[in-house]
Amino acid sequence: MLDGVKPTIGVLALQGDVREHVHALEACGADVVGVRRESELATIDGLVIPGGESTAISKLLEVFDLLEPLKQRLRDGLPAYGSCAGMILLASEVFDTRPDMKPLHGIDMTVRRNAFGRQVDSFEADLDFKGLDDAPVRAVFIRAPWVEQAGQDVEILATVPSGPAAGRIVAVRQGNVMATSFHPEVTGDLRVHKLFVDTVVRPRAGV
Ligand code: GLN
Repeated sequence: MLDGVKPTIGVLALQGDVREHVHALEACGADVVGVRRESELATIDGLVIPGGESTAISKLLEVFDLLEPLKQRLRDGLPAYGSCAGMILLASEVFDTRPDMKPLHGIDMTVRRNAFGRQVDSFEADLDFKGLDDAPVRAVFIRAPWVEQAGQDVEILATVPSGPAAGRIVAVRQGNVMATSFHPEVTGDLRVHKLFVDTVVRPRAGV
């Protein structure tokens, strides 16, 4: 964390593994708030969208009148990070979802939901992750999506190293919006969250 700058990071708290992200972000030195209302959205410097069930979170965004305010804040440059269901929500287009699911258009990408198969096809892998060069990232995939297509401004941070899905894109960044197919919040490795907290802190610190 850069000296003297403590960002307030929201975790979208409608459904999913909210608590794990709160703990990871607190361990990175951020002030963390659960976001369920537009007034809470207004107070944050960055937002994490957790894993869970993307169709349920999409529906709840509408029920809680957060869909349009959140899309607007993303257009205005709110840094965001989505893991798994959060990646699906941040996409501009989603394959294999419900027709009424409304993606947030945070990243110019097409994401395929449940791309690796069913719940029983959940798996773990060690990934090379751009910018985290000291050691591979242990990635936990739970009924995960992958990025089917990424726009030219989207930076690819990690792909599946081997097996039937080798080469599939599972971590991306466009500007200050990041997404991973997997769940770093469940492994105790804070580096992905730190990377996100840095993208929130740096512009505020004028670095
Ligand atoms: N399969 C879930 C969905 O479609 C995502 C799973 C997860 O977040 N672990 O939203």
